[in-house]
Amino acid sequence: MKITRIAAYQVDLPLHEGSYKWSGGKSVEVFDSTIVRVDTDTGLSGYGEVCPLGPFYLPAYAAGVRAGIRELAPHLLGSDPRQLARLNRQMDAALKGHPYVKSGIDMACWDILGIATGQPICALLGGRYGDDFVLYRAISQESPEAMTQKVAEYREQGYRRFQLKVGGDPETDIERIRQIADLLGAGDKLIADANTGWLMHEAARVVAAVADVDVYIEQPCNSYAECLSIRRRCSQPFVLDESVDGIAMLLRSHADQAADVVNIKISKLGGLTKAALARDLCVEMGVAMTIEDSWGGDIVTAAIAHLAHSTPTEFLFTATDFNSYVTVSTAVGAPQRANGRMAAANAPGLGIAPRWDALGEPQVDVS
Ligand code: MG
Repeated sequence: MKITRIAAYQVDLPLHEGSYKWSGGKSVEVFDSTIVRVDTDTGLSGYGEVCPLGPFYLPAYAAGVRAGIRELAPHLLGSDPRQLARLNRQMDAALKGHPYVKSGIDMACWDILGIATGQPICALLGGRYGDDFVLYRAISQESPEAMTQKVAEYREQGYRRFQLKVGGDPETDIERIRQIADLLGAGDKLIADANTGWLMHEAARVVAAVADVDVYIEQPCNSYAECLSIRRRCSQPFVLDESVDGIAMLLRSHADQAADVVNIKISKLGGLTKAALARDLCVEMGVAMTIEDSWGGDIVTAAIAHLAHSTPTEFLFTATDFNSYVTVSTAVGAPQRANGRMAAANAPGLGIAPRWDALGEPQVDVS
């Protein structure tokens, strides 16, 4: 089987809540997502998606996905999409770095491998654990009262894990964490995600002020060294996200015992192949994971579901259902949340089919 064409479509994904806000005043109102299509000489096609969290979250931006695919695609024509490790080596040889550019192509090739073998991707990634898996809800940064109200609403809908966007003014963040912790019940989990937003003195004050609260602290500061410093003076379970941007950092963080939970974002690592490698290493090392992506719609959500559902349950701290945050559906067959939980499709591959009316004409088309 040979790749004969790689195309990319641009889709706007507005948010049900109108906007998504996090540390440092960063916010997005409409996500710019790229749907990737890989065609083969057998007539089989596969799909992937890459959606950066705006241009100011990770070193990734939406137009960069399309520019990168335009650069990379000619090198991949004629390659067998089912040979994922080989294909990833080819992508790394043709374009150094830029893992997010490669993520949608890798995802589409996993879709093809699944369809070609009649297996859902979760089976190919190691097997399905349980009937479904647990989701978290990200709570956009607002006043403590507004965030408390949102947590109450999403708790009514079945969510039991809440990731608060903090990383703002320390006093307000302490109030956010305390007010919302008071609302939660037994078995609920609270994560305070500063998204690199605190300086060390601010992070140190917040973790000291909430030392009696059952809360996870996620990526308090910008650099790995700063986070490690806070980790060593913090009693709560600790999550690293932005700092763990590849296998080397994952291994280093484990050697330093820098995190109890690591956040595996598919496009941050460069696709399902590398995210699954990170996942398998975490399982071997005894590190729990949040499994998700930077953002996305139906196709990213389907890919998250396959990676999360093939993760041993005790290692899956939580996962995300981005397609329930956005107002536009780009594919049929994508998993849908139910009671704060989700399951990967049983159909072969990702188990989705694009809604062509939502995609329009391709922005990149290499054949
Ligand atoms: Mg995070």
